[in-house]
Amino acid sequence: MEIGFIGLGNMGAPMAANLAAAGHNVRGFDTIADAPEGVTRASSAAEAAKGADVVITMLPNGAILRSVATEVIPAMAQGAVFVDCSTVEVDAAREVAKQAEAEGLGWLDAPVSGGVGGAAGGTLTFMVGGSETAFETVQPLFEIMGQKAVLCGPAGNGQAAKICNNMILGVTMIATCEAFAMADKLGLSRQAMFDVVSTSSGYSWTMNAYCPAPGVGPQSPADNGYKPGFAAELMVKDLGLAQAAAEAADADTPMGAAALALYRQFVEDEDGRGQDFSAMLPRFESRGRSG
Ligand code: NAD
Repeated sequence: MEIGFIGLGNMGAPMAANLAAAGHNVRGFDTIADAPEGVTRASSAAEAAKGADVVITMLPNGAILRSVATEVIPAMAQGAVFVDCSTVEVDAAREVAKQAEAEGLGWLDAPVSGGVGGAAGGTLTFMVGGSETAFETVQPLFEIMGQKAVLCGPAGNGQAAKICNNMILGVTMIATCEAFAMADKLGLSRQAMFDVVSTSSGYSWTMNAYCPAPGVGPQSPADNGYKPGFAAELMVKDLGLAQAAAEAADADTPMGAAALALYRQFVEDEDGRGQDFSAMLPRFESRGRSG
């Protein structure tokens, strides 16, 4: 396929490189980053999109997606599919979908889970909103970049699934970290905590697959000085999107709101920026009940 790929950052570059390595013709554009191996650099987003069967965007936020979309949609060929893999507001996805469909294009919002490791290894999970026809067209590309793609319903539903998942992730990571820090103070070893919880009803992805305690459980950012991984500021972004969506939908989400407040404090007022989101454990460890 002819593929335009816009946004060649930490996630986009390895995703584009995997598509090129699988034999697709990929033209990439980024305002700053260089094109990875196998990807031809275009001089603008519109040039990357021109003549492509599929245009993929992997951008920082919804405002940038909206601005890139105004450039890219007019340049795309009729019947081509616009796939946004960024994490953005549900509303932004639905609005850009409308614009794309009004111009005779297919649309999928397809945010991912799996992080930079999943992008490099081609093992991402795609949560997809849009039409079945567009999904079938893009499925072979999802299979190269990831291990699973789930069609969650019409445009915007991929983003809805992503923020619900990440709201669970943020809340669960905090619960796991505060329990580890409390266990320390109760004289329980971290290994014993892991051995019990990872096989008991407190188990979770954050405990079993991404354990925030160094030297315990599988390799994780905790074993690498809490270098991200998934940075705490990205968790603030996703929890913020979740709260905005909850407000718009009148959903009661007290745990999600508490997780956002804690991660925001960690990033803005403490030393969380640039650390993995599992660095909540040393944060709790250094505190008592009154701060
Ligand atoms: P990043 O900042 O590394 O990459 C974004 C890229 O977009 C940058 O290279 C930037 O130069 C480029 N860009 C910005 N404006 C542009 C424009 N107008 N035209 C072209 N390029 C432009 O971010 P990332 O970590 O690759 O994340 C990308 C998206 O994926 C975000 O929405 C993020 O929330 C989501 N995400 C990230 C992770 C992760 O672990 N990093 C995991 C899941 C989802």
